[in-house]
Amino acid sequence: MMKVKDKNFVEMLSKEDISCIVDRLAAALNADMAGKNPYFLVMMNGAVFFATDLLRRITIPCGLAFVKYTSYEGMRSTGKVTAVLPVPADVKGRNVVVVEDIVDTGETMKAFLSEMQRYAPESVRIVSFLAKPAAMKHPLLIDYVGKEIGNEFVLGYGLDYDGLGRNVPELLVYDGK
Ligand code: 5GP
Repeated sequence: MMKVKDKNFVEMLSKEDISCIVDRLAAALNADMAGKNPYFLVMMNGAVFFATDLLRRITIPCGLAFVKYTSYEGMRSTGKVTAVLPVPADVKGRNVVVVEDIVDTGETMKAFLSEMQRYAPESVRIVSFLAKPAAMKHPLLIDYVGKEIGNEFVLGYGLDYDGLGRNVPELLVYDGK
């Protein structure tokens, strides 16, 4: 058990569990993207831990860049995002793989994908470490999912609670207390 700010969290995935999941996702990507010179776009900040583990296991030639988008303040329902660190122009004509930490309602990913289209990639796939299928509001195909979880709040492995906990190497879940 671990206390972060005012909340208690318990372990959901150990470092070994995480490693097995990342092995599986990397094997699938190495097989599916062979010969396609994929371009991995990592969604900051949350996906950085997952991405560095994943990319270490990618054995085919590939590109890598980091992007950061935030929802417009008070306008989340419009599904618009603003670029802090935008998609690089050289994704044009490339086979993009978007690397995300978690897809919850799908709002962020939906807005990001529509933004992506302006950059004219050849194809776009999504790999997300976690997904909450019961929370998804938008019908999105997530090509590669590490683990599906329920409507619960998780922390660690890049994911924060109020700015804290990203550095925790395991994945923890709020125990309701
Ligand atoms: P969506 O737009 O899909 O609803 O939300 C996606 C973003 O919400 C994620 O990139 C992440 O930043 C945040 N998020 C969603 N669920 C969780 C969770 O259980 N824990 C944490 N720490 N962040 C979450």
